[in-house]
Amino acid sequence: MNFFRLLGVSPLSSTEEIKRAFYKKAKKFHPDLNPNAGEIFKYITQAYETLIDPEKRKHYESVLNKKSILDKFSESFFEFFGYTAKPKRGKNIKLNLTVYVEDGLRGSKKEISYKRKIICEDCDGCGFTEHSSIVKCEKCINGYIDTKLGKIPCSECLTKGFIIKNPCNTCKGRGYYTKMDRVVIDIPVGVRGGDFIKIEKMGNAGLNGGDYGDLIIKFRLDTSPFEVSGNDLILKMKLEKHPSEYESINLKLPSKEKITVNMPNIDPPFRLVVRNCGYTSPEGNRGNLYIDIT
Ligand SMILES: [Zn+2]
Ligand SMILES: [Zn+2]
Repeated sequence: MNFFRLLGVSPLSSTEEIKRAFYKKAKKFHPDLNPNAGEIFKYITQAYETLIDPEKRKHYESVLNKKSILDKFSESFFEFFGYTAKPKRGKNIKLNLTVYVEDGLRGSKKEISYKRKIICEDCDGCGFTEHSSIVKCEKCINGYIDTKLGKIPCSECLTKGFIIKNPCNTCKGRGYYTKMDRVVIDIPVGVRGGDFIKIEKMGNAGLNGGDYGDLIIKFRLDTSPFEVSGNDLILKMKLEKHPSEYESINLKLPSKEKITVNMPNIDPPFRLVVRNCGYTSPEGNRGNLYIDIT
């Protein structure tokens, strides 16, 4: 059996991590609490006692990882198809998020929902619960089958070295499942279209104890009806009548402020300047608002 898979830890995990994983499981599967889980408790105890002892762990790992040149070839072949007992980091998730000038002016927060693969909480990624039973896989040794072409991953147990009967209902024994997750995104002050932020470990779950991938948010800045140029905002305005017929115009800024701009009595096209009412730099320096009258 693959003891790391049994405890739901990475083959690279420290003694501390193994202890933590075991104690969490021991609480769940102890025969005093769960008379039906005695068999599972026996296996996880065996895994724990082997991995906690540096000498025993070294020996177990040397048996588990013993490979010939042919094995290495076949392993990289199967790895290519994602079929391996090695820890594999989860994939990053990339999402686009549309934000508006008003979001970038002071910075804001937005909650988003998205789908991602997570490690199953009900079985801690092992695929079995107190309602399951496990048996050694008869087709392989520790998850691999010896053939003339070298060691190949066992398709019966998917490199676990054990078969789960009555697996975890939530993840169907896979150890992970896809769910809708939510995260609050901090939209930075002065955000520009094309900027992105990375939220670590909020991507897809890794395999075999591998880390979570990241969530990468790319911002799209919807500036309409304005244009953003550096820290300035530009508004194009077409008047129905000659400027002399207006005394002033009222405008609502993206910051929700209302302003009144006096209209000069000259022929278009011309540009009006409203100082410090434009967009902003990440440091908070406001630009100007330019109104191009045609
Ligand atoms: Zn599960
Ligand atoms: Zn097997």
